[in-house]
Amino acid sequence: MEHFAGAEKWVPDKGGLRGLQAALPDCRGCDLWEYADQVVPGDGPARARLMLVGEQPGDVEDKQGTVFVGPAGRLLDKALAAAGIDRADVYLTNAVKHFRFEERGKRRIHKTPAVSHIVACNPWLTRELAVVKPSLVVVLGSVAARALLGTGFKVTQHRGERVELPDGTAAVPTVHPSSVIRSEEYRRDFGLFVDDLRVAAELLG
Ligand code: SF4
Repeated sequence: MEHFAGAEKWVPDKGGLRGLQAALPDCRGCDLWEYADQVVPGDGPARARLMLVGEQPGDVEDKQGTVFVGPAGRLLDKALAAAGIDRADVYLTNAVKHFRFEERGKRRIHKTPAVSHIVACNPWLTRELAVVKPSLVVVLGSVAARALLGTGFKVTQHRGERVELPDGTAAVPTVHPSSVIRSEEYRRDFGLFVDDLRVAAELLG
């Protein structure tokens, strides 16, 4: 496994979300900053009760510098609305803050972050959790689950259940919205995704 220094020394230990966002572009904790257009910080209310954690920015997010604005973001918006959750109330972020891709001709194709990228970027996520202090975290897909719940955690076995992060924060794991987009059984899988988000909405009360 490739080893990176990790983000630790770039993550400020005070200064709130603004301080975090200001420090992020300087991060050289792994190699992904070299290829991406820009870093994509988390976004949402500083005291959000609900935090959603995805995998990494996609092509559109990388170009715009904003989380969940591409196809997966649009699907997520639809699913949140169907579950009765207002996106404006949610803090959205990713386990890895730079876009990992491979070039095919002029296209940039998403490439899943390696475990070494997830580990390197984890100090940013840990700090976001400490600053926002959400009551509940929705874990979107296996990369976010690896970052928040450890290597052995299987999203498919526990989706839609209430689990706990190591610090005791309540969490609901589910799939990443991009897997719903790719699904051959879109209607069924969109419905299951909304069901998981409804569990989160109910837990929040
Ligand atoms: S992906 Fe994370 S650790 Fe790697 S350079 Fe970007 S912000 Fe730093």
